[in-house]
Amino acid sequence: MEVLLSPAGRETHEAPRATGFSRVGERLWLDFVNTDEARRGQRVDLLRDFDALVAFLVDTAVLDDERASGMRRRAHQQPAGATATLVDARRTRAALRQLAERGAQSERARLDALAEINRVLGRSAVTRRVDLQEDGRFVRTFVPVGDAFAALLIPVIESAADALIDGELARVRRCGDPRCTRVFLDDTRNGRRRWCEMSTCGNRAKAARWRERQDAPEG
Ligand SMILES: [Zn+2]
Repeated sequence: MEVLLSPAGRETHEAPRATGFSRVGERLWLDFVNTDEARRGQRVDLLRDFDALVAFLVDTAVLDDERASGMRRRAHQQPAGATATLVDARRTRAALRQLAERGAQSERARLDALAEINRVLGRSAVTRRVDLQEDGRFVRTFVPVGDAFAALLIPVIESAADALIDGELARVRRCGDPRCTRVFLDDTRNGRRRWCEMSTCGNRAKAARWRERQDAPEG
């Protein structure tokens, strides 16, 4: 399957880039888990359609614009395949959430995630390349061999596999705000990161502590 497109193909299939993906996870697989969010206590699925999945992969530099256009064009031609890919991506995400939230404690969660990782790795192949971008940066890219839809999640799954291989699960945490479902890798030196973001959940907690102090009876 040819994924690279001529510039003419790009214009007709360029979708507006979805916003709202958080990048607080510090790892690709955790940012992927965080596409299933809670906002004001309501579950919000940021992967609302196939285009959103492609937008996430562009946002995280897994796909460049050209390959993303190729995927969108292919989805337009094969809508059933695109829908199946999205359903499958959500299934993978659910397994990775279990790994993020319980993997450090639960061997069952690790083994289930391992099965999911090998399921995804087993159904498609990619070749890896290192590309030089126009801005002078080097990036690793994955070029599908065979089924391009099936290969889309391989970079995400490789990132989760690295967490198992490198023994990082003990530092994966869920945000300290119980209403927030975001997960992240705590790579602070003292291992005391509590919030997905200081600017949202961290500040809310700080404000709540401040109010408690104001409400406390004068001693
Ligand atoms: Zn949070």
